[in-house]
Amino acid sequence: MKTVPYWTDNTPKPAGITADDLPTERLDAVIIGAGVTGLTAARRLADLGKTVLVVDAMEIGSAASAINGGQLNYGLKPGLATLEKRYGSETTHALWDASLEAIDLAERIIREDGFDAGFRRAGAVSLGYHDSSRAKAHATSGMLREKYGFNTTVYEGDDLHSVIGSDLFTVALVSEVDGAVDPAKYNFGLAAAVAGRGVPIIEGCEVTGIRRVGDEYVVSTTKGAVRSGDVLLATNGYTPKDLVPSVRRQVVPIGSYMVATVPLPAETLDRLLPGNRVYWTQRRFLNYFRRSDDDRLLLGGRPNLSPNLDLTEVAAGMQTAIGEIFPELSGVEITHVWGGKLAATFDLMPHLGRTDDGVWYAVGYGGHGMSLATYLGTNVGDLIGGATDDSPFLGLRHPTRFYYRGDPWFLGAGGLAFRALDRIGR
Ligand SMILES: Cc1cc2nc3c(=O)[nH]c(=O)nc-3n(C[C@H](O)[C@H](O)[C@H](O)COP(=O)(O)OP(=O)(O)OC[C@H]3O[C@@H](n4cnc5c(N)ncnc54)[C@H](O)[C@@H]3O)c2cc1C
Repeated sequence: MKTVPYWTDNTPKPAGITADDLPTERLDAVIIGAGVTGLTAARRLADLGKTVLVVDAMEIGSAASAINGGQLNYGLKPGLATLEKRYGSETTHALWDASLEAIDLAERIIREDGFDAGFRRAGAVSLGYHDSSRAKAHATSGMLREKYGFNTTVYEGDDLHSVIGSDLFTVALVSEVDGAVDPAKYNFGLAAAVAGRGVPIIEGCEVTGIRRVGDEYVVSTTKGAVRSGDVLLATNGYTPKDLVPSVRRQVVPIGSYMVATVPLPAETLDRLLPGNRVYWTQRRFLNYFRRSDDDRLLLGGRPNLSPNLDLTEVAAGMQTAIGEIFPELSGVEITHVWGGKLAATFDLMPHLGRTDDGVWYAVGYGGHGMSLATYLGTNVGDLIGGATDDSPFLGLRHPTRFYYRGDPWFLGAGGLAFRALDRIGR
């Protein structure tokens, strides 16, 4: 069993997408983080004629953007009723529309820049475990149709097997708009598209300080310093503790883990995952899964909230989860196990804004960053580049907690509480 991501093992980083030396001239924008957020922002800024530099502390493809479940889902993490109560109906509708536009945007970027990211409109299946999940699914489906004009289909009883070959669930809520990508191909394709616009992407280049001097910033890195008119923090689950403390206090890094099985007979997967959609379970400690192009089952989740778990133990837990969902796959061989970090916020919303010092940030997608990072990255590119002054995400409150200074000491207790709520189906 390899402890590397299946995705980047299958699609290694292409040559020629990174640069070595920091530019010496003053830039319009420095982007910190070469994931989906940073690269879509850089792409947009380059199209607006701005001079841009992207730096990343790690190698491109090591962080969450290249190694995730590859699901591009509609909606936001908080329920629409919560959002309406918090922000009002107009803003909630704008946020909802943005979540759908995000999937279209990813599809458009891939098409316009002409790279293969394995994109398909897979559709998604959300799976409930409890008797009470049925009524909730019908209520959600009805509300989405009536208030948002959005169609979903509820499957239960004998019909369930037409969307999932498992007896573990009581109900499935199926939507057709969700996309699936190969995340490594998407991340590398975006990087190639950005590099092709003449933007240097420098990896192994950690930003260690951002200092405002007059109307510009001096960005210090492990490879030297650069001057820039704007700075974007696109560091999500990898946001350092001390670089921009006010942003780090908004995001809690959380681990998410995945496994890939050996290739399975195509007929087995046709039966277990009919329609070849993407799937997730309705729990706080959810599982998400899908089929790979080479007929593996890829399954993700987390046994608790820690980003530093032992991967061998994670793989054993995931193997058990696979057996619970699909008993005929009990003990199936796992070939890859890996993990990465996502960023949770206290309001479960992505945060787009500027610090008191004017540093831009777009972070905090939870497990929902593939489509939303594409949207917020592009949107913040437009904002920095002056193409718009508008975003449904701009101006929302970004809460932290008085007890959180960037050290998430409460993850253990939080995980126990979440697991208890999952057990009772709340
Ligand atoms: C296992 C897993 C499965 C997931 N599955 C899904 C899914 O199916 N669908 C979905 O929508 N979302 C999913 N997510 C979440 C999604 O991957 C993220 O929300 C998204 O990739 C965030 O993109 P990003 O560009 O903002 O950040 P990232 O891709 O995390 O990139 C941040 C970058 O910032 C860099 N950085 C940090 N500090 C510095 C510094 N000081 N100097 C320079 N660089 C720095 C890091 O090195 C990193 O490369 C998953 C996440 C994980 C871990």
